[in-house]
Amino acid sequence: MTLKDYSDYQFLLVEPVAKTAYPPLGLMKISSMLKDKYKGCTVFTQVGNGIPDRLSCPKRVFITSLFTWDWKFLVGSIDFYKRVFPSSEIMVGGISASLLNEDLQCIRGITPCVGLYNDAEFYPPDYSIPFGRRNRASITFTSRGCNRKCEFCSVRVLEPDYFVKDDWQKDIVEEFPFIIFWDNNFLYSPNFEKDCQKILQLGKKVDFNQGLDARLLDEHRAKRLFNIDIDPIRLAFDDVRYERAVVKAIRLARKYSNREIMVYVLYNFKDTPEDLYYRIDLLNREGVLSFPMEYRAPNKRQGKIPGPHWNTFLLRAFKLTLLFYYNKGVISRSRTSFERIYGKTANEFVSRLYEIFRYDKALKRTSKVEEPILYGR
Ligand code: SF4
Repeated sequence: MTLKDYSDYQFLLVEPVAKTAYPPLGLMKISSMLKDKYKGCTVFTQVGNGIPDRLSCPKRVFITSLFTWDWKFLVGSIDFYKRVFPSSEIMVGGISASLLNEDLQCIRGITPCVGLYNDAEFYPPDYSIPFGRRNRASITFTSRGCNRKCEFCSVRVLEPDYFVKDDWQKDIVEEFPFIIFWDNNFLYSPNFEKDCQKILQLGKKVDFNQGLDARLLDEHRAKRLFNIDIDPIRLAFDDVRYERAVVKAIRLARKYSNREIMVYVLYNFKDTPEDLYYRIDLLNREGVLSFPMEYRAPNKRQGKIPGPHWNTFLLRAFKLTLLFYYNKGVISRSRTSFERIYGKTANEFVSRLYEIFRYDKALKRTSKVEEPILYGR
């Protein structure tokens, strides 16, 4: 039996805009799938709109997407490739296409792949196409989905079914010194013990990039988990109700590891600015880094979208503090800086944000900010 030769097949993988340090993993898996199914085919990659050298007529163009506020880049790429390659099949997927799939159907008549692209999901990423990044980390998942279903979280749309992946080690590249796990909730996995053992045996530095669920960390799990060289240790403090669990998790991490601890802090959801202050102040007192993350409802709009207790002044001013006073938006451990920037009380925090906004406006830096939208304040 002779194998069919697909050397005349061309495929194009497009990342409409590159806004993160990580390459588009979905496209890298699709590349492996294509190279396996269509032996001899050529896979081209492109960041932004353009036509790679030697690409003449791709059989299919796969376009990924990430942040909903980068919607215009996604639509721009769809229009560009439809125009340039009218006879090619255009396939669209990724996070924002999934979350705004109805808009995409209305506006461009495209039915995107919502959530995981099952044909490619079980392939390892093709690390030979790093989309311009200098990648030295294997990226994998030991599980998909999450059964917690937190109200603000899109995982229930993107990965509605929870399942574990027993063969994640196929994604690991021997020469890469790091492994990044993109699990939504590593501690939730029934394979937790088994996976910790596997990771230990690989002997590499590990990053559980999406944050660990503080509520599921107890003494037993901490002992197992922090045997692994996790750097940094990332936790999440999405709601003030989890204060005790977060503080306990920080102390357990300290007990079993000497690595840096960083905590994701969601804001602009149902919280108030005072609530945000309370959480970042607590973390600062605990001597850990906090990484505030603004909640944005899935929406095509580019500007700020304030939650019920926030407004665009406060959102803008808080973002400015992170940009100008802190490195990469991470609030450092320095107590002196914290109090100098944010004050010693929640009231001072709010007053300072208004002062910063006014100062910035006076400097005309805010000239491009759209008209403020006020909710409840
Ligand atoms: S625990 Fe994390 S991943 Fe799971 S639903 Fe909540 S926010 Fe999403």
